[in-house]
Amino acid sequence: MHETNADLEHVETESELRQKVATMCMMLNLQGSVGMFGHVSIRVPGTERILLSPGAGSEKGAVTPEQVFVFHLNGDILEHPGGEVPLEWRIHTQIHRDRPEIMSITHLHAQHSTLLGIAGREIVPVFLHGAFLHTGVPTWDDPRLVVNDAQAASLSAALGDHVAIQQRGHGSVVVGETAEIAFFRSTFLEENARKQVEAEILGGALPLRPEEAADCARGTFNPRLLRLLWNYYQRKAEQELANQVPRMTN
Ligand SMILES: [Zn+2]
Repeated sequence: MHETNADLEHVETESELRQKVATMCMMLNLQGSVGMFGHVSIRVPGTERILLSPGAGSEKGAVTPEQVFVFHLNGDILEHPGGEVPLEWRIHTQIHRDRPEIMSITHLHAQHSTLLGIAGREIVPVFLHGAFLHTGVPTWDDPRLVVNDAQAASLSAALGDHVAIQQRGHGSVVVGETAEIAFFRSTFLEENARKQVEAEILGGALPLRPEEAADCARGTFNPRLLRLLWNYYQRKAEQELANQVPRMTN
């Protein structure tokens, strides 16, 4: 399928973006990367409105657009749908303020990328689709919850202009210029970390050489794959949801 000019020019509505937040949360749940505590946000283009997935206590495999919180960039809650506010909402408002080119942010509690931080190991690109990590993944050397402005500012400063950051003993934050890019990076950050951890167990992980990593990143990070990856996981998340319905109505 080719992208038409109409596709490229389509500016997504807030209602479409709410659905996208819900879908992204379900896809990352399927990967085991958000669990009880992770969350995702999308900024509404041209506005100071941040759409944020619900907090702990919500079923991350069955998030609906109606459960999405709307924050102002300054941290005020503009729309509270009920349910728990994600405790670490400042991760999103702070980074959206500091990085206006970033339209989507994920906060992950994923197993393998967190393990590398606990082991004091840098995340390095070890396979084709993790090649984008060659620009470096800094570490925020603090395992605490991000629950005040000073912590959020410190985390965002440590992230700088990188695409992802480890939070030692806690999780990670990944950013993208679009939701699809943030999802791609979140998916392959964890997949790369898993391969890196398992290779270390086998005796040592061999990082991509810098020139290989740059070539691999150019070869894999493209609009076609971004769309295919999103659609692949969206189908799986929808199937998972459909499988849940009979159990939930019992
Ligand atoms: Zn957290």
